[in-house]
Amino acid sequence: MHKKALVLFSGGQDSATCLAWALERYEQVETIGFDYGQRHKVELQCRGMVLDLVRSQFPQWAARLGPDHMLDLGLLGQISDTALTADKAIAFEQSGLPNTFVPGRNLIFFTFAAAVAYRRGISVLVGGMCETDYSGYPDCRDDTLKALQVTLGLGLDTRMVVETPLMWIDKAQTWQLAHGLGGDALVEIIRRDTHSCYVGDHTTLHDWGYGCGQCPACELRARGWAKYRGEAQ
Ligand code: ZN
Repeated sequence: MHKKALVLFSGGQDSATCLAWALERYEQVETIGFDYGQRHKVELQCRGMVLDLVRSQFPQWAARLGPDHMLDLGLLGQISDTALTADKAIAFEQSGLPNTFVPGRNLIFFTFAAAVAYRRGISVLVGGMCETDYSGYPDCRDDTLKALQVTLGLGLDTRMVVETPLMWIDKAQTWQLAHGLGGDALVEIIRRDTHSCYVGDHTTLHDWGYGCGQCPACELRARGWAKYRGEAQ
């Protein structure tokens, strides 16, 4: 019944792993990305690179991989004032949330993704949200996304499934999942060609990938890689 999936693909480790997960499961997979005035365009540049590498190195997946949809959501940058979209340092707000939080971002992303999916005859939306390495973003919660699945289905009057394969696994297990799906070749694409760093550093190559090595996203990625490598050896 659910043969076609649309992956919310940002160009980071999590969504790249979700892309492989979807390519392994669905007959047709399309991708969607959002330009919302991010300060750092490097993540968006990584998207195209990862898609190219998946197409060239995984012929069985290339046949299933359909168009990439890039949406301009510049208005999200206009209505938020965060460390991701404005030139300010990453810090924790009084709410306890880091100021990298764009309020309601995933609600907006999924709603736009559902509109594209509806038009394309796709009934599954795949996202890399996760409660395990929880940064406290309320729009990444399992309950939020389950409620959203119901809302989208009702609002579009069609069955819409929101899949979040990383919801209950940590970053080390995300590397393991990638390895299980695409072996060393996929792990290497994700290590070298995805981007997680909040500061946008894509010049310094560590064993876990490019990044500043200091920001919360880099710390999380480095810790997960070290744990994965420790368990793998
Ligand atoms: Zn960083």
